[in-house]
Amino acid sequence: MKKPSTISGLRELMRQNNIRPKKRWGQNFLVDGNILSKIAKYASADHNGYIVEIGPGLGALTEELAIQHKGVLAIDIDYSLEPALRQVLSPYDNVHLIFQDIMATDIEEELTKVFQLKSVPNYTVCANIPYNITTPIIFKLLEQCPNLKSAILMMQKEVAGRIMAAPGGKDYGLLTLTVAYHAQAKFLMNVSPSCFYPRPEVESTVIKIIPSSGKRVKVNQEKEFIMLLKFAFQKRRKTMLNIAADYFSCDKTLAKNILEEINISPARRPETLDLEDFASLANAFLEKNLYKKI
Ligand code: SAH
Repeated sequence: MKKPSTISGLRELMRQNNIRPKKRWGQNFLVDGNILSKIAKYASADHNGYIVEIGPGLGALTEELAIQHKGVLAIDIDYSLEPALRQVLSPYDNVHLIFQDIMATDIEEELTKVFQLKSVPNYTVCANIPYNITTPIIFKLLEQCPNLKSAILMMQKEVAGRIMAAPGGKDYGLLTLTVAYHAQAKFLMNVSPSCFYPRPEVESTVIKIIPSSGKRVKVNQEKEFIMLLKFAFQKRRKTMLNIAADYFSCDKTLAKNILEEINISPARRPETLDLEDFASLANAFLEKNLYKKI
C-alpha cells in the first residue's frame, strides 16, 4: 500500500484518488519520516492514552500516532480525503475519523462518544494545523477544552515566535499574554519547508502547550482582563496612561494615581508590561469600581 509519509507514496496516493492539495485549507503534507516520528514521540511522552489529531490530511502523522497510543480521534474538514485516508488507516482499529470543521466541533464530547467512555478522558492534541486558523484553534483549545493535558502543535515559525516572545519586542502582544495566562509554551523544533509536499512558503515550528491547572495570575474578572489586553494591544503605540484612562473611562489624574500605586510608570507602552503587570492593573481599577460594564 502507498505510504503517505514519503513524497513518492503521497503523490501516488493523490493521483490514484484524484486529490489536489487545497491551499485554502492549508494542505501542506508532511513527507519526512524522521520529523513525523519525532512529533508522535513528543505526543506520547506525555500521554499514551487518547490523542486528538486536527487535520490528519492523508494520515502520515495519524499512522505514527495510532501505533503509539490507545486511541486516536482525527478530525479533518475535507471530505474528499476520506477514501484515501480510510485506506491508509485501515490497519488501525484504534483510529476514529470525523469529517467536519474543527472550529465547529465539541472535541471533548466527540472524544467521549467515539471511544464510548463514561467521562471525558485526559488527552493530548497533536496537529500540523492549518496555518490560517492557528490562533483561533489555540484559543479554542485553551478556553473550551478543560481536560486537555497538552498540545503538540506545528505552526508558522512567526506565530510560534509571538507565542514565546519576551516583553519589549514587536512579537510580544495579545497572543503571548493570552497563552501565558492559560498555559505554558515550550519550543520543540523547527521544520524546514523541504519536509512538506507541496512546500509551504514559510518556515515551521513545533511547540508544546501545557494548560496550567491553576492560573499564573489571579484576576478578579477574567472577561474584563482579556478585554483589557485586547484593547491595550490595539493601541500599542499609546502610553499606559492613555490606555487606562480611555479603557476605564476615567480622568487622567486618577488613572495616573492608580498606575503609580501599582508601580507601573504611566509613560510605559503596553508591550513592556508582563502578565503580572496587566493582572494588577485590571484588579486595581476593578477595586475602584472603574470597569467597563460588559
Ligand atoms: N497532518 C497532515 C496534514 C496537514 S495539512 C500532515 O501533516 O501531512 C492541514 C490539514 O488540516 C489538511 O488536511 C486540511 O484539510 C485540514 N484542515 C484545514 N482546515 C481545517 C478545519 N477548519 N478543521 C479541520 N481540519 C482542517
